Amino acid sequence: MHDLIIVGGGAAGLAAAAYALDKQLDVMVVYENLGGKINQKFTMHADTDFLIGHILVHLDAPETAPEEVTRLGADTVQEFERQVTTQRGRALFDRVRRVAKEGDVFKVETERSGTLQSAAVIIASGAVPKQLDVPGREFINHGIGYTPVTYARALAGKTAVVIGCTQRALRGAAELARTVAQVYLVAPQFPHNDPILTVLQKRPNVEILEGCTVTEVTGTSSVDTVIVEQSGKVRRLPVDAVFADVGLTPNAAMVKGLVETDADGFIVVDKRNATSVTGLFAAGDVTTVYGEHTLIAIGEGARAALAAHDYLLTRG
Ligand SMILES: Cc1cc2nc3c(=O)[nH]c(=O)nc-3n(C[C@H](O)[C@H](O)[C@H](O)COP(=O)(O)OP(=O)(O)OC[C@H]3O[C@@H](n4cnc5c(N)ncnc54)[C@H](O)[C@@H]3O)c2cc1C
Repeated sequence: MHDLIIVGGGAAGLAAAAYALDKQLDVMVVYENLGGKINQKFTMHADTDFLIGHILVHLDAPETAPEEVTRLGADTVQEFERQVTTQRGRALFDRVRRVAKEGDVFKVETERSGTLQSAAVIIASGAVPKQLDVPGREFINHGIGYTPVTYARALAGKTAVVIGCTQRALRGAAELARTVAQVYLVAPQFPHNDPILTVLQKRPNVEILEGCTVTEVTGTSSVDTVIVEQSGKVRRLPVDAVFADVGLTPNAAMVKGLVETDADGFIVVDKRNATSVTGLFAAGDVTTVYGEHTLIAIGEGARAALAAHDYLLTRG
């Protein structure tokens, strides 16, 4: 039986694992994609600039060195990954189906490796962006992205569409509006009296298309047009990049019915990252904690491991 099983090998899970290894716990990380979302790459091909992954190349100025679009914390996650994978038997490539608690013991059922047991568990399984369900969705990660804030600098002087009315969408549009030439913000309905929306309404380079739905995204190697419709009227928006921020779905099916979640299924944690089940902790994008960011996931993962370690000490 392990001291600790961590479900997820992204920023939160790997930070938790590195902390647990430092405390000499018998820890096992179960993951499907080591590194998690930091490995997702977004490419964009505008007239003069080409963004691949995190490298921005200026095609009109080939003498300029390619720029790196920084993702704070990515290097740290890679270092945690190295620490975890260089120790034998600490990382297991598998899918967790279900987590249950019997007495004081957690049973973690995997798809291919049977049922593992541990005294404590950390769920760090992240969340996935809700998909944009229109023709042209094959451009996802090729001009269609999910995180406007990451690419605001790379889109200086260009045109972007943000689809969605979530807080993340509004924040993303506000951040883009500081650098891009034109932002279109599209959603069937926006939250009224929202302070960010009020600021966006006053910006000359932002057009808010309320009551509109996106019907198609078109392009060749990357997106170049977004087609929107309002009461039967069709409008074609020429764009360099599209961000569909229509919400996140937590990967929390393995603890459904076991822990308390909010209405959207995110795991409720307290300030020590403890869940409603004793000995079960959670960290990162799968929780109700504010801010889907690598640095936040790292900190949350470390705190969940600290709390799990405290819990294990009290068990003797
Ligand atoms: C396109 C994009 C760009 C982003 N850009 C930035 C940025 O610039 N700066 C920034 O700070 N943040 C950025 N983010 C957000 C950041 O990536 C996340 O906040 C962070 O990765 C969350 O870490 P996490 O460990 O909680 O989840 P994730 O990184 O999603 O990791 C989840 C882990 O759980 C595993 N998993 C899930 N379900 C199971 C299961 N059933 N069994 C086993 N394993 C499972 C996955 O395989 C993965 O290893 C971006 C996100 C995206 C999608």
